[in-house]
Amino acid sequence: MTPLLQDKVAVVTGGAQGIGEAIARTFIDHGARVVIGDRDGAAAAATAAALGEGRAIGVACDVTDGEQVSSLIARAVEAFGALDVMVNNAGITRDATMRKMSEEQFDQVIDVHLRGSWLGTKHAAEAMRDGGRPGAIINMSSISGKVGFFGQTNYSAAKAGVVGLSKAAAKELARHGIRVNAIQPGLIATDMTRAMPEDIWETKLAEIPMGRAGSVDEIASVALFLASNLSSYMTGTVQEVTGGRLM
Ligand code: NAD
Repeated sequence: MTPLLQDKVAVVTGGAQGIGEAIARTFIDHGARVVIGDRDGAAAAATAAALGEGRAIGVACDVTDGEQVSSLIARAVEAFGALDVMVNNAGITRDATMRKMSEEQFDQVIDVHLRGSWLGTKHAAEAMRDGGRPGAIINMSSISGKVGFFGQTNYSAAKAGVVGLSKAAAKELARHGIRVNAIQPGLIATDMTRAMPEDIWETKLAEIPMGRAGSVDEIASVALFLASNLSSYMTGTVQEVTGGRLM
């Protein structure tokens, strides 16, 4: 059987670690070549080197900066000849109740998730249109964007915004053969969630019908599905990957 992403070229933002790293690895395992863009350029380069010479490149890129996002995409086209798949995954949290949250904490989170995903979608779509090949764009939302989490007015707003962005972009880009879908992970064990106090972790676990946190590979396999032809008739969808939490 031909690998699902044979000869496809993907860009994954925030791919130096966590969910993004797992997506990059899974894509490579299924035949793709991947450019990892991460604010931490050294970590992106180290991850790319570990993923395999000639199959992955690590590039320093802050997704809040349009010129850096445009250069990241140009690098993929330059190195591997095209862009087929874009994963807007980079993320941060700056949790606090609204009373304590500073305007800066609000802006930082909106900038990375919402502006970053918009810039990635915009520049990737341009490269895909220029390349004349069908494309898939995957935006990382969160279950926090569906239900709203205490202490995350910034993050929930940004992640709900990512859903609106994905649906609007899906409508604009369908005629060009470009699909746009979003993933809403639930509780996934990464550095982002390991920072959580244990009692909060336990409260969240109790909400999950499947009774456990998810792994990064369980998000990566859904990203693989959305990136590949297996999902060829899907656009503008939001995939909850939560073990049934808050369904
Ligand atoms: P992580 O902290 O392990 O990794 C995030 C990566 O993004 C890091 O490599 C970091 O350097 C990079 N990054 C941060 N700001 C950036 C910027 N401005 N430009 C480029 N790169 C930047 O986090 P993770 O848990 O792997 O999360 C990945 C995505 O999944 C995020 O969008 C996050 O909001 C989302 N998510 C995670 C969970 C979870 O439970 N872990 C749940 C729902 C959604």
